[in-house]
Amino acid sequence: GEKIRLDKMLSNMGKGTRSEVKDALRFGQVKVNGMTVRVGKEKIDSDEDEVTYRGEIVTYKKYLYLMLNKPQGVISATEDNHHETVIDLIDESYKHYELFPVGRLDIDTEGLLIITNDGELTHNLLSPKKHVPKTYIAKVEGVVGDADIDAFAKGIVLDDGYACKPAELIIDSVKDGFSNVTLTIHEGKFHQVKRMFEAQGGLVVYLKRTMMNALTLDPELELGSYKELSEDELKLLV
Ligand code: URA
Repeated sequence: GEKIRLDKMLSNMGKGTRSEVKDALRFGQVKVNGMTVRVGKEKIDSDEDEVTYRGEIVTYKKYLYLMLNKPQGVISATEDNHHETVIDLIDESYKHYELFPVGRLDIDTEGLLIITNDGELTHNLLSPKKHVPKTYIAKVEGVVGDADIDAFAKGIVLDDGYACKPAELIIDSVKDGFSNVTLTIHEGKFHQVKRMFEAQGGLVVYLKRTMMNALTLDPELELGSYKELSEDELKLLV
């Protein structure tokens, strides 16, 4: 496993500030494989060594992966002067991970947002070269029909002239002048889904992301709630 300084590992895992960890070491409250260790700079192996802090086993995890069901009204950023951010929704006990959202959902968009500290995973999911599929459900003002399915399959041209990659549109229901649809896109331009429907003369009045790659938003997760991804879920994402 990874070799990491004992004091760094303990503070990274949220056991305390640097100086609290230093005190715990000094008072003999840290053990490695059953032996008291008082030297913070000693290196441990993240897989092989068993570390206890005040009697409790500490497991080292370099990366954290959270699935958030983003509610409306919060913005996809780490800091903002005016609005609550998605990071504000995450418990303090996770703060030492230096989390950020993987891409953005608009302030009024709900649904699946991954929160992590893994920059490489983030890059892979957002890279325009990878064409990672993202699925949304939307309520659109206007009657969406077969001609729209064809247009989305061929590639919608946005207001700025950008030609979208083929996208899969499913019409779930049409009622009282509104259409409920499911759309899968393979790129992530600014306001893309809204602008694709605008190009077809529709107006998105509700938008929720339900899938990223093969990972589906857990239907048990309420708006504003989150959970750690299981290993199987992480595999579906990457
Ligand atoms: N497309 C949009 O228009 N908004 C989002 O939040 C995501 C995709």
